[in-house]
Amino acid sequence: MTQPTSPGTLYIVATPIGNLEDITYRALKVLAAVDLIAAEDTRKTRILLDHYGISKPMLSYFSYNEKQRTPQLVRLLSNGKSIALVSDAGTPGISDPAHTVVIAALEHGIPVIPIPGPSAFISALIISGLPTNSFVFEGFLPVKKGRATKLAALKEETRTVILYESPHRIVKTLGQILEVFGDRQVAIARELTKKFEEIVRGPLSSVVKEIGSKPTRGEYVLLIAGRGTERLV
Ligand code: SAM
Repeated sequence: MTQPTSPGTLYIVATPIGNLEDITYRALKVLAAVDLIAAEDTRKTRILLDHYGISKPMLSYFSYNEKQRTPQLVRLLSNGKSIALVSDAGTPGISDPAHTVVIAALEHGIPVIPIPGPSAFISALIISGLPTNSFVFEGFLPVKKGRATKLAALKEETRTVILYESPHRIVKTLGQILEVFGDRQVAIARELTKKFEEIVRGPLSSVVKEIGSKPTRGEYVLLIAGRGTERLV
């Protein structure tokens, strides 16, 4: 009689948000040891793996295929294979795919282990000058439907509000926030850990002017002082 195979482990591995050196020893050990890496963009992950001399079979796992891909990953895990899940940048599951396979693995009694590391919003928060003791991370605002409702609700928030935004929408979004929130204190962190890392802090009215005065490029985190927070610390 064949013995039942004990399941492999699903590792959720954080990778750099720009600077390739921002990866933990443990993350590298796990990436080198697993049977397979499920990556949001295999080409991007290949750059990281090549940098550290790691060669490993990879499979894509991104927002448009995660539902189809999940049963396959669960099958492999159930058959004893260990898998590391990585996203393009930062921590999987934070405005990035991971949740579907995590839920499925838990439902099948498969161990799920986090390998912590960078996330853009934490890096931005800790240098923002805004209160860090209590904050709310909202990821990307809805692009169309629900945007106005979300902004109106966030206006009442007393904790530091953290948002992600793309370069082609950042100026418009800042303008909308100014309209709804009034002239709050904000911090905009751009290209963290990269060559053109920059942080702009101050009242929203002047920050909109500064950000809008030059071409917007790269990746942005937007932090807004909670209601009742009068100034940067
Ligand atoms: N999983 C990632 C994390 O843990 O931060 C977030 C992925 S989300 C698809 C991408 C967004 O994160 C970007 O549009 C930007 O708002 C933010 N982001 C990622 N890297 C960044 C960086 N180096 N500097 C500033 N913002 C960044």
